[in-house]
Amino acid sequence: MSRLARYSSSALQLRKLYIATLSFPSSFSTTAPHPSPPPIHVGLTECAGRGVFASRRISAGELIHTAQPIVSHPSLSSLHTVCYFCLRKLPSLQASQTVSFCSTQCEQQSKVTFLTIHSSIHTVQPVNITGWNKNTSSASIVWKEGMQGLKYPLLVKRMACQVISGAVSSDVLDILQPEISSSDRISKMKKEVALLKNTFVDSDIGSEQMAFLTEEWYAGVLARIRINAFRIEFAVGPYEDLLSLAAASVEAEAAVGNAVYVLPSLYNHDCDPNVNIVWVENVDAKVKALRDIEEGEELRICYIDASMDYKARQRILYEGFGFHCNCPRCVSKD
Ligand SMILES: [Zn+2]
Ligand SMILES: [Zn+2]
Repeated sequence: MSRLARYSSSALQLRKLYIATLSFPSSFSTTAPHPSPPPIHVGLTECAGRGVFASRRISAGELIHTAQPIVSHPSLSSLHTVCYFCLRKLPSLQASQTVSFCSTQCEQQSKVTFLTIHSSIHTVQPVNITGWNKNTSSASIVWKEGMQGLKYPLLVKRMACQVISGAVSSDVLDILQPEISSSDRISKMKKEVALLKNTFVDSDIGSEQMAFLTEEWYAGVLARIRINAFRIEFAVGPYEDLLSLAAASVEAEAAVGNAVYVLPSLYNHDCDPNVNIVWVENVDAKVKALRDIEEGEELRICYIDASMDYKARQRILYEGFGFHCNCPRCVSKD
């Protein structure tokens, strides 16, 4: 999320980013064959760095755009109940001790983009690009034990797999704001990088294929994932209502995973947001207007639970995202 004003970016970068993010395919476009481009543009705000602005009037309840993740991963507790690729809930019959896919399309996509899978353990094995790895490698077990329960390293690992397979470039997340890492965390990371490299070596990934996998790369990706990852919780309710109701908070189930997006991360925060992001059936993020928005108005989401009081919001935003919120609601100490 582009929450800090420190980030500087040239107009050219913004333009490239705008074109790149808006040209992502989306599941929304499969239901509407020729959708017009989303009514938004990325620009600079007065004091919060980049932001997303309405390029025309947007009505309350309008689905502004859908975004597909750069990287996503099921939570460990949902590993056997959601699609390993798109996080869609699996029919209970299909849920098993192995990771599964909701469709052959998702299975194919995962082979192409993160070359993974191992059927008998909780974390994902990187495998040889040419096929499915049938053996549990010792290095993978070590990696798994070192990382168990840590959602962000799982995202970094999948990201590394995507880079090795050529699905994304190693600098794809550079556009996002990083968290400032503590020295503590950096020394812990060295161990994680070494373990991750070992799992790839065990899977016959050549050193030139993982030349990108340096401590700097790992630290940079992790720092971006830490403050840009969204917790995926499916909204509960009839599909049409979820898309059309201008409700600020929708009832949600427990988190099924985490994902990082480009465009949704560019929305700044407001404790009284005019848009929100919902997940209805899979990892695709749907950005909806909560009220009527005028052309040129900045679109803002709420990064935290908006029902908290002023002091709690200020503390969580500062600790989690590194800024003091000066939104109109906070200025009035509401
Ligand atoms: Zn799927
Ligand atoms: Zn605020």
